[in-house]
Amino acid sequence: MFGTREKFLYFECSACHCIQICEIPYELSEFYPEGYFSLNLPSPNIFKKYIKRKCFQHSAGNHNLLGKFISSKKGNASFNVWLKHLRINFNSSILDAGSG
Ligand SMILES: [Zn+2]
Repeated sequence: MFGTREKFLYFECSACHCIQICEIPYELSEFYPEGYFSLNLPSPNIFKKYIKRKCFQHSAGNHNLLGKFISSKKGNASFNVWLKHLRINFNSSILDAGSG
């Protein structure tokens, strides 16, 4: 991302085929300098967060009027559509890797 041209070794897990770095650099702050985009995201507006939650709940099968209304006006967020097929709920554990 910063064009350092450093090289890192990775390995592939033989069980699940995920790719992992072999040795985590000692000083990670070098790779996340001040101003790194995901460290400076504004905290979400509590009202917007509530609306998003209601929309997700609605699309995940926990139907509610507010989620239904907003979804009918704005449409479903794309991740709501594919999360729906995973049969997960708000108690499910999700690994969110490398999303920033
Ligand atoms: Zn594995």
